[in-house]
Amino acid sequence: MAIILDGKTIAKKLEAELAAYSRIREIRLDVILVGDNLASATYVRNKHRAAERVGMQSVIHTLPVHTKSEEIEQLIEELNSNEEVDGILLQLPLPEQLNSEKLLDSIHPMKDVDVFHPENAGLAYLGRPRIWPCTPSGILRLLHEHEIDIVGKHAVVVGRSNIVGKPMAALLQHANATVTVCHRMTKRLQDFTRQADILVVAAGSPGLIGKDDIKPGAVVIDVGSEFVNGKLTGDVRFAEVEPIASAITPVPGGVGPLTIASLLSNTVRLASLRRGWAN
Ligand code: NAD
Repeated sequence: MAIILDGKTIAKKLEAELAAYSRIREIRLDVILVGDNLASATYVRNKHRAAERVGMQSVIHTLPVHTKSEEIEQLIEELNSNEEVDGILLQLPLPEQLNSEKLLDSIHPMKDVDVFHPENAGLAYLGRPRIWPCTPSGILRLLHEHEIDIVGKHAVVVGRSNIVGKPMAALLQHANATVTVCHRMTKRLQDFTRQADILVVAAGSPGLIGKDDIKPGAVVIDVGSEFVNGKLTGDVRFAEVEPIASAITPVPGGVGPLTIASLLSNTVRLASLRRGWAN
């Protein structure tokens, strides 16, 4: 039987730490939501509620699906120059007429709470992070809180997106794991996943990983969160993997809550740096 890595409990602990920060009420996070993607609207609402719980100001800018790029650029520019705004988050995916890369690049690096700006990503990869992307840093916190040793372990990351897989691999390397990255073109995926002491699956492919894909005793982190028949579903077949893993995250209630708590924590960190409260 595996230890269940309960993200909800750790997220509550992180939120309590943030709520206790003396300047939390001065800090403001602005989220831009374009279009009517239901999942995105839910994520934005959850982020807003979490910000309210810790006492952080949270403003949501909801824009219609056909909004022109120039209008979003103008809004980002206003938020960039508004001294009261500490974090700007452009919720992805954007409607297809919009160029995500160009818009994300226009967010001021000191307000880029998601670490999409090349300056922040570059600093993180060089081992001089201002902040790390929310999901990987939440996962590190989860491992740390459960006293799971990372040093010298073989960590296998399935997925290489800019938001999860790539920074996850970088952060694990930073934490002194030996890291292998797999992706859609990897041949014989199982040969790699079966070697993992720590397996992080961020493929967005429901049920991809089963009991034959893991080494007995592995720590299994399931980032996947796709709606299948209206139910949030991970990349790992929990019921069959849980009996042979040493620790495993559930979906929902594993990585998700920590991603949101890390977003708030990143906002506090960037606010402290930009306003000169910390160095
Ligand atoms: P993405 O589609 O940008 O990237 C998926 C990656 O997985 C790609 O690099 C691809 O090569 C790889 N991949 C896909 N199918 C594969 C397969 N069969 N074998 C090996 N590799 C495969 O997705 P993303 O933004 O990185 O998100 C991944 C999943 O994590 C999604 O389900 C997303 O909803 C979820 N997610 C959850 C959280 C959270 O907080 N819980 C946060 C971010 C993303």
